[in-house]
Amino acid sequence: MNRTTIHALLSAALLGTAAAPAAAQEQVLNLYSARHYQTDETLYADFTRQTGIRINRIEAGDEPLLERLRNEGANSPADVLLLVDAARLWKAQVEGLFQPVKSAALEQRIPATLRSKDDGKGSEWFGMSTRARVIVYNKVKVDPALVQNYEDLARPELKGMVCTRSGAHPYMLSLIGAMSEHLGEQKAEEWARGVVANFARAPRGGDTDQIRAVASGECGVALTNTYYLVRMLRSNKSEDQEVASRVGMIWPNQKSFGTHVNVSGAGVAKHAPNRANAIKFLEYLASDSAQTYFAAGNNEWPAVSSVKSGNRALESLGRFKADDLPIGSVGRAQVNAARIIDRAGWR
Ligand code: FE
Repeated sequence: MNRTTIHALLSAALLGTAAAPAAAQEQVLNLYSARHYQTDETLYADFTRQTGIRINRIEAGDEPLLERLRNEGANSPADVLLLVDAARLWKAQVEGLFQPVKSAALEQRIPATLRSKDDGKGSEWFGMSTRARVIVYNKVKVDPALVQNYEDLARPELKGMVCTRSGAHPYMLSLIGAMSEHLGEQKAEEWARGVVANFARAPRGGDTDQIRAVASGECGVALTNTYYLVRMLRSNKSEDQEVASRVGMIWPNQKSFGTHVNVSGAGVAKHAPNRANAIKFLEYLASDSAQTYFAAGNNEWPAVSSVKSGNRALESLGRFKADDLPIGSVGRAQVNAARIIDRAGWR
């Protein structure tokens, strides 16, 4: 046996899909997921109840999951790959880790701007929930009139006030990529240089760290995905409530292209052994009840527009104009974004 075969057998055994005659009758779905929330349990149990298909889950961070898929190659037991952010989904797409899906239900329910276009290599994915990337500011230090747009983060008045996570993080690559789509690469680079010139500190930490640093006054203004803010609003810890009370939120670019929106999304894995089950699972994720649960797990909005989130803290943020740049082009634009952050030193 060569190493790949051993690896595949090990994976199959770990997933409980080894070719025992009795187990062969059972319908299974092998889900590789970068998401893990409590509500997901209910979601998966409901799918099994509806279809009789048992779900084997492999949960890991996005990068380790992709690495595992690459190593497993054609022997991978993965049926569905669930990732977070268009930058990562696109990366998996161009690496050919997905396969095409013909599903009238998915095409009808998931808005065209929230799924990848068939890229000719026959690899595609579908956004299942959305989040927005917003500006947060310290209510004492910063006049909100100064930070109504992403472009404003480069204003000279904000010198020493701007904090972000690393420009190389997928959330930043997607946003900077979207800026490059809207402004052109050169203008986006000028903007990026302006933002870097305004840094209060070198990029570090995640979005929650940026929110906390804005609340403490170390930073005047920062960027965060909406769900981190909502998590804080819903927290019953007094220190989180305190942080939330010191921070104001802006929906950027309401008078121009709208606020940057990104997705959690899924596709059928390239070598899915249970392809039909995989498509059933994606269609299930796009169903009304699953959409509510899936979005609720991470305080996101359902991708299917007719489904209400029912999440009061999330709805308390209000309504906004979303950037309707197709999410596939946001993913692709990370190539420009990577060049921009290198040249601007946004690390
Ligand atoms: Fe996140």
